[in-house]
Amino acid sequence: MARIGIMGGTFDPIHYGHLVTAEEARVQFELSQVLFVPNHYPPHKDLNGVTDPEHRYRMTLLATMTNEHFAVSRIEIDRPGPSFTIETIEMLRKPYAASDLFYITGADAILQIVRGEWERSAELLALCQFIAASRPGFSLNAEDMRRSNATGRRLDNVHVMEIPALAISSTDIRRRVTQSRPIRYLVPDPVEAYVVKHRLYR
Ligand code: ATP
Ligand code: MG
Repeated sequence: MARIGIMGGTFDPIHYGHLVTAEEARVQFELSQVLFVPNHYPPHKDLNGVTDPEHRYRMTLLATMTNEHFAVSRIEIDRPGPSFTIETIEMLRKPYAASDLFYITGADAILQIVRGEWERSAELLALCQFIAASRPGFSLNAEDMRRSNATGRRLDNVHVMEIPALAISSTDIRRRVTQSRPIRYLVPDPVEAYVVKHRLYR
């Protein structure tokens, strides 16, 4: 059975934290492909100031184009309204019926899911496997997850993954651009060039 990773996010902008997480998941869990899924707009964030989805989609394409195992999906970009991950996984299960799906998150996102803060969290947890990456600023171990678990699910399909720590966030990158501080080496060069060309985050 093919094993497919799904990396959802706002990617505003995509950065090396996302890319290292996806690549580590691919190798550690023997995934044949990682599908990046930029959201149309995030249900859990203040909508003010979320960048146009097409810009975020194109930056995701630019960042992933040199990895033959990475692809980008428009499934959420093309679906009107807020992007609920449960709907995306339900939709992807059809074209990928013959595959095992692994939803890849950082520590902050998996903790939100097990706390029941995402749309139909308990159902989402039942739909596929989860790979939860360590992330600076968030503690993540089996004990933390058990204590936070409000879903009534057993969480034995949630796999914790240690990755080289990258204290990079899109929030910090946007702030840096606003303050005319560098983002070079935090994002791939074509993403930096795209941000400059389109005057994003100014
Ligand atoms: P923002 O600061 O705007 O929330 P972000 O850097 O958290 O941006 P998102 O698009 O919100 O990026 O995150 C998408 C996914 O990537 C989430 O599951 C998040 O936990 C994970 N992620 C983001 N940055 C890192 C990182 N540095 N290390 C590990 N996981 C990360
Ligand atoms: Mg985030």
